Amino acid sequence: MKFESNYNLRSLNTFKLNSQARFFVELNRVEDLHEIYDFAMANNVSIRILGGGSNLILPEHIEALVIKNNLTGSRFTGEETRSISIACASGVNWHSFVLSSIGQGLFGLENLALIPGTVGGAPIQNIGAYGVEVNQFITKVTGYDFDTNTIKALTNPECQFEYRHSIFKTPAYKNFLITEVEFKLLKHAQPVLSYAELAQAFARQPNVQARDIANKVIQIRQRKLPDVQTIPNVGSFFKNPITNAQTVSNLKVKFPDLVVHTLADGQFKLAAGQLIDKLGFKGRRHGTVAMYEKQALVMINLGEARLIDVKKMTDLVQQECLTQLGILLETEPIFW
Ligand SMILES: Cc1cc2nc3c(=O)[nH]c(=O)nc-3n(C[C@H](O)[C@H](O)[C@H](O)COP(=O)(O)OP(=O)(O)OC[C@H]3O[C@@H](n4cnc5c(N)ncnc54)[C@H](O)[C@@H]3O)c2cc1C
Repeated sequence: MKFESNYNLRSLNTFKLNSQARFFVELNRVEDLHEIYDFAMANNVSIRILGGGSNLILPEHIEALVIKNNLTGSRFTGEETRSISIACASGVNWHSFVLSSIGQGLFGLENLALIPGTVGGAPIQNIGAYGVEVNQFITKVTGYDFDTNTIKALTNPECQFEYRHSIFKTPAYKNFLITEVEFKLLKHAQPVLSYAELAQAFARQPNVQARDIANKVIQIRQRKLPDVQTIPNVGSFFKNPITNAQTVSNLKVKFPDLVVHTLADGQFKLAAGQLIDKLGFKGRRHGTVAMYEKQALVMINLGEARLIDVKKMTDLVQQECLTQLGILLETEPIFW
């Protein structure tokens, strides 16, 4: 294994921020984790785990050992009447895993096609899109705990999945490297077409297949979201806020076209992108960053983005949203 010093992570994060890691190593085999543990102990540094770098805002300097996860492979772990279980290594590209599950005739992950990042990154914020969240299909998450130098497995309830949240985002799991995620996928179609554009597209089509939905999702995403290869970004920059009936009715007076989803617990989820758009942020620049002109929820790097501009733009959006609409927006990417 090669441990590098002062390693630039620019090419390893989709916002393309310049960031120097004090130490850097690539993880290709689970067996190498003990050597990485020894290195971190010997050099007295903490660790940071890097997947596809698609949900991260990096500082200019990281005084830690950054571990780039390249673990690959997958295996069948079980079969029941209606489902097949597959355990997938955490370094596998998420979209490739979705496509391979569809190729094997399995259903469940099709609405989550084309989300960047790794399989190991998916449970961290419980990725979701077009009416589906990944926790609906996760049965087990296995990982290496750097605090105890042991492997540990968590069942689905133990992962404490919520909207864009899980136990893996809490301080207790800061040093937990997910090595494998087990999914229980369906043998028969159960299309989720709750999202308006999907419902419309398949309104007259019987026997909608996973591949049809994935293709449509890919098409919608390519139209709406900036391609990270040409316009660096981290996807949605803010979470959709959850609020109460009073706030919704106040906002409806101001914006009759307000998008509101009623949640099972009686609260309401608003579309952060719509709120940011209403505040006039679409296309607005601050220094080296801007809110994307076609989707106000996405912050983009205009070239050589600086962290100070990312933070300032974040503050501007949050402050205006709070003072003008009474809504506190939380950031979605993780700031290291
Ligand atoms: C264009 C674009 C569109 C997006 N669309 C969506 C969307 O529709 N829905 C959605 O939910 N997200 C979306 N995202 C966000 C992002 O793709 C996901 O959150 C993704 O799962 C992040 O995975 P990653 O491997 O890139 O994680 P990274 O960005 O590398 O890491 C994110 C966090 O997870 C931790 N982490 C990563 N891998 C591991 C591991 N193996 N073990 C322990 N911790 C780990 C890191 O330490 C870090 O704290 C989008 C991003 C972009 C750029």
